[in-house]
Amino acid sequence: MTTTRPDSALELRERFTRYLRDRRLPVTRQRLQVADVLFHAPDHPSVDGISRDLKRRGVTVGTATVYRTLDLLVESGLVREHDFGEGFRRFESMTTRSHHEHLVCQRCGQVVEFVNERLERMLDMIADEHTFLHRRHRVEIFGLCPDCRGRDAADLRASVTS
Ligand SMILES: [Zn+2]
Ligand SMILES: [Zn+2]
Repeated sequence: MTTTRPDSALELRERFTRYLRDRRLPVTRQRLQVADVLFHAPDHPSVDGISRDLKRRGVTVGTATVYRTLDLLVESGLVREHDFGEGFRRFESMTTRSHHEHLVCQRCGQVVEFVNERLERMLDMIADEHTFLHRRHRVEIFGLCPDCRGRDAADLRASVTS
């Protein structure tokens, strides 16, 4: 479901560079390195995840720079910010993927994406019913992923047989 075009990360990097230049903000190597990590991320990384990825690439970027760059990326509209109620933020780049919603596992933190035409139509209808102009929305379903549910079932079976 995650369709990443080979040129999209490069394209995003260019747009971010332009965004910084337009606002007369310094285009530093560190900022671009933080942005690159996010533009290449297939999932919804946290600040910790991004810092780990930078370290793995042998890149040293201060935490303050990571936070500042993430804020700029969100402001630029190239990155979407999520709060899945875990006590920390997660991020994902925008244009590599089309509009989608999320299922969030409250135990292991796994995030699954989905697209549903009927849901989209339903949300339009709800907005209409309230004479609301529908601009955008976020749908998040919280619960347990199949892995965690399976583990629960296995634990239950073990406790029954013991
Ligand atoms: Zn889970
Ligand atoms: Zn997503």
